[in-house]
Amino acid sequence: MPIKVLDPKVVSRIAAGEVVEKPASVVKELVENSLDAGSSQISIEVRGGGISLIRVTDNGAGIPPGEVGLAFDRYATSKISSLEDLESILSLGFRGEALPSIAAVAQVDIVTCASGEPAGTYLSLIGGTIVGRGSLGRARGTAVTVRNLFRQVPARLKFLKSVATENGHIANVVSQYALAFPEVKFSLSIDGRVALRTPGSGRLIDSIVEVYGAEVAGHMIEIGGEAKASSPQVVGMVGSPKVSRSGRGQLSFFVNRRWVNSRLLARAVEEAYHGLLMSGKHPVAIINIWLPTQEVDVNIHPTKSEVKFRNEHLVFSAVHRAVRQALVEKMPVPRIEEVAVAYESPSKPRQVFLPPAQVRPASPAPWAPEVPTSPLPVLRILGQLDNSYIIAEGPDGLYLIDQHAAHERVLFDNIEHQRSQREIEIQGLLEPMTLEVSPRQGEVLRSHYDDLAEFGFAIEPFGDRTFLVRAVPALVYRKDWVGMLRELLDSLAEGGKGDWVEGIARSIACHGAVRAGQALTDTEMRELVRQLEQSATPRTCPHGRPTMIHLSSGQLKKEFGRT
Ligand code: ADP
Ligand code: MG
Repeated sequence: MPIKVLDPKVVSRIAAGEVVEKPASVVKELVENSLDAGSSQISIEVRGGGISLIRVTDNGAGIPPGEVGLAFDRYATSKISSLEDLESILSLGFRGEALPSIAAVAQVDIVTCASGEPAGTYLSLIGGTIVGRGSLGRARGTAVTVRNLFRQVPARLKFLKSVATENGHIANVVSQYALAFPEVKFSLSIDGRVALRTPGSGRLIDSIVEVYGAEVAGHMIEIGGEAKASSPQVVGMVGSPKVSRSGRGQLSFFVNRRWVNSRLLARAVEEAYHGLLMSGKHPVAIINIWLPTQEVDVNIHPTKSEVKFRNEHLVFSAVHRAVRQALVEKMPVPRIEEVAVAYESPSKPRQVFLPPAQVRPASPAPWAPEVPTSPLPVLRILGQLDNSYIIAEGPDGLYLIDQHAAHERVLFDNIEHQRSQREIEIQGLLEPMTLEVSPRQGEVLRSHYDDLAEFGFAIEPFGDRTFLVRAVPALVYRKDWVGMLRELLDSLAEGGKGDWVEGIARSIACHGAVRAGQALTDTEMRELVRQLEQSATPRTCPHGRPTMIHLSSGQLKKEFGRT
């Protein structure tokens, strides 16, 4: 094919792909426009995962009648006008790409009324072409309605995740901006249900209550309040180590109020928690960084979600210092018993909860082969190493078994079997417990009651983002099943369609299993290894990691230099 310049329609479709990756991208761009317009109230309505409808309504500055059409031209913006302006961007938008990009892949209606105008302007576009225009009564502000997103882009549609996942992404975007702009009243409705509503009081803690719930909010510590004059200025709130999470989803960073992803900043915060969180746990943090605009380049990606700092080191250490200082100064001194629970004395053997007879019958289970044809030979327990590994001897050498991974495998097999037989052990709670979740977790939970019920979780809605838990799987009854549920909802929100059922089983197994660092009695170790011997796949845990290391007698001889 000869080289030729692409048709403008093709160009706009290609460019749109960079800005509008999924329904949540549309919500992000529209909310940013509303914020740039100085709105104090922004409401977001979505239906069908954002595919059928996204509507963002604000009470901001509006667009003058003569400029409405222009707003949909590529690179048309009211926010910058010269090359120098690129150096001092304080608005969230500046590329003039969002509206044309959205219009290229959806059907868009806008109604807007600027201050001092007698009436509002209405414009309707299909595939980027204006198909209707008129004037309409409206109070000051703008409403943009996006319908049938990606209908003309089947490739994009195909790559979207489930409605619950897309709703989760949308809830996350709105939550982030609600945290960054506590003075703005946000409301998000998903399929007619209120998913998030913030008061717009201007106090960060009020937004945190709505986004993460009162429990988390009760454990937040303010950072950097005093150091107003410093540059970069770092303010916000971080969670006490008590509210740690197993993922990094609750670390939010805003640079001059722009929500950004940054590994550098995540590392600065995590290092500030060094020694305060168990390994594998991550903090909750909302961090606002104020920098002179010349110190940061926001123009490195079409979605504007990444930034480049002129002096990375300076920003890193400012964030690290602010967080560490607040933690050290304001954290309540841990009480002796809390420390004792967190770091159990390794020398003191303790009874732990191993899957008792209720989970697996003492006699060989009917599905297990009578004759031990399992790929693991019968093992003799020699002892426990570091309260984490079981040392065992087999006919062919030495086995070092990771107790947590091995127990996970055993529990996972049991759960899968019990579920297939519909005999999951359920533990009812004496008092139903309320569970508060983030908007994003709520979206996922709401669409999967049935899947969770199959595993023994009896959960029902109890308000917008509160749920009532009446029963849980017996396996995790005495464990941190609240943490487990949150982690599960987070991972499912991020993971998309995936295999739900397997994800739940894996999660229950992981949380029900003995941890590294727990002393096991000889009987417990024997019981665990016996059960592992029954598994069809004893050598890997459900996540695919090895449960054991095997050193054959031959290898041992070789190591010792014998032939
Ligand atoms: P950018 O935000 O990068 O300028 P957009 O395509 O998002 O580009 O928007 C184009 C222009 O339309 C903006 O510069 C702004 O003038 C106007 N605009 C868009 N949304 C709104 C809104 N909600 N309120 C007021 N003006 C808006
Ligand atoms: Mg914009």
